[in-house]
Amino acid sequence: GLAMAKSKFEYVRDFEADDTVLPNCWIVVRLDGRNFHRFSEQHEFKKPNDDRALQLMTKCAQTVMQELEDIAIAYGQSDEYSFVFKKKSRWFKRRASKFMTHVVSQFSSSYVFYWKDYFKDQQLLYPPGFDGRIVLYPSNQNLKDYLSWRQADCHINNLYNTVFWMLVQRSGLTPVQAQERLRGTLAGDKNEILFSEFNINYNNEPLMYRKGTVLIWQKVNEVITKKIKLPKEEEKEVEVTRTKTKVVPLHCDIIGDQFWEEYPEILAE
Ligand code: ATP
Ligand code: ATP
Ligand code: MG
Ligand code: MG
Ligand code: MG
Ligand code: MG
Ligand code: MG
Repeated sequence: GLAMAKSKFEYVRDFEADDTVLPNCWIVVRLDGRNFHRFSEQHEFKKPNDDRALQLMTKCAQTVMQELEDIAIAYGQSDEYSFVFKKKSRWFKRRASKFMTHVVSQFSSSYVFYWKDYFKDQQLLYPPGFDGRIVLYPSNQNLKDYLSWRQADCHINNLYNTVFWMLVQRSGLTPVQAQERLRGTLAGDKNEILFSEFNINYNNEPLMYRKGTVLIWQKVNEVITKKIKLPKEEEKEVEVTRTKTKVVPLHCDIIGDQFWEEYPEILAE
C-alpha cells in the first residue's frame, strides 16, 4: 500500500548505524543471566548445580538453534550460553544487532515458556533477563580457543563451587569461612580437600557439571508408523525410517583435538 510513498520523516532512517559484521568470520553470540546469583537463591536452586536449571538452559538453547538460522554449535554452562553462527551466514545481511537480539529474546521467552516443564511446583517469581554480546573470530583456531576458554571457565568455577558448597553444607562453615579456607588454593589442593575430607573423587562428578553442554546438529534415524491406503486394499500401518537433523546435547571435552576430529563438519562450512 503505502510502502512506496516516502514521507518527509524518512530521513531519520539515515541515523541508524551500519552494524554489518565482517565477512568470513565466525559470529559468536554469548548470553548470560542477569543477576542469577539472586535469581538462583530466590528460586531455590540446588547448590552448586541445579539440574533443572541446567536442563532448562539447554532446552532454551535448543529452541534458539531450531528457530534461528545458521547456528553450527552452541556451548553452555551455569547461566550462560554461546551460539556460533556459520562463517558464511547471510542471515539478516549479517547485522550484529539482529543476531544478538534474536538470540537473546528467543532464549528469554523460551526460559519463561518452558520454566514449568523443568521446575514443576517451583513458581517463577519474576521475569528473568539475559544480557548479550557479539564477538567475531576470523580463524578456526580462534573459535576453538574461544570455546576452550568457556569450558576451562566451567571447570575452574565448578571445582571451586563443589568444594565451597561441601565446606558449607557438610562441614558447617559459613560462606565467609569457606572462602577463607579456599583462598590461594590450587586445583590440586581443592581435589585433595574433596578427597580427604569428603571422600569425593572430583573426576567422578557428573560430566554435565564438569564439562558443560555442547549442542551440535546430528542426523538421527526416526522410526515412525504411517497409515497407508492403496486402492482396493485395507488401510494398513507401515514402519518408515527417516533421517532427521536434530540438536543433540553432549557433555564432552572440546579443548582437545578429539572432538574436532570426530565432528569435522562443524568447522567445514
Ligand atoms: P551478572 O548479572 O553480572 O551476570 P550473576 O549473579 O548472574 O551476575 P554470574 O557470574 O553470571 O553472576 O553467575 C551466575 C550465578 O548463578 C552463580 O552465582 C551461580 O551459582 C548461579 N547459577 C547459575 N546456574 C546455576 C545452576 N544450574 N545451579 C546453581 N546455581 C546456578
Ligand atoms: P520481521 O520479522 O521482519 O519483523 P514481520 O512479519 O514481523 O517480519 P513487520 O514489518 O514487523 O513484519 O510487521 C508486523 C506485522 O504484524 C504486520 O503484518 C502487522 O499486520 C502485524 N501486526 C502487528 N501488530 C498487530 C496488531 N496489533 N494487530 C494486527 N496485526 C498486527
Ligand atoms: Mg515491525
Ligand atoms: Mg557476570
Ligand atoms: Mg549472570
Ligand atoms: Mg554467568
Ligand atoms: Mg516484526
